[in-house]
Amino acid sequence: MKIAEHRFLRFILPSKAFAAVEADTRKWQTECPKCQLVRDAWEAGCVLYKAGCNNPATGINSKSLALCPACGEKSMHVIRLKPEHNAWEKKQEIAQQQD
Ligand SMILES: [Zn+2]
Repeated sequence: MKIAEHRFLRFILPSKAFAAVEADTRKWQTECPKCQLVRDAWEAGCVLYKAGCNNPATGINSKSLALCPACGEKSMHVIRLKPEHNAWEKKQEIAQQQD
């Protein structure tokens, strides 16, 4: 999704709902597989509302074809929960401490 669609959302949603969508989306980040650039999912133009991880073991929601502003390559960017929102990572830390 493009930033233009954020403007569309802002237009159709009550401001509280728009803020909720933005806050939810900002829990996610996108990662370029070519150069490892990490971007805020909202800044990257994504919309993820009440999204979950398809794979709880990795925190990954999905992959989406995107043009990377850093390396200029078009590739499948990983959409993943940011570490601070990542319950699976905390679980892993606990598991490691028990080893
Ligand atoms: Zn890149």
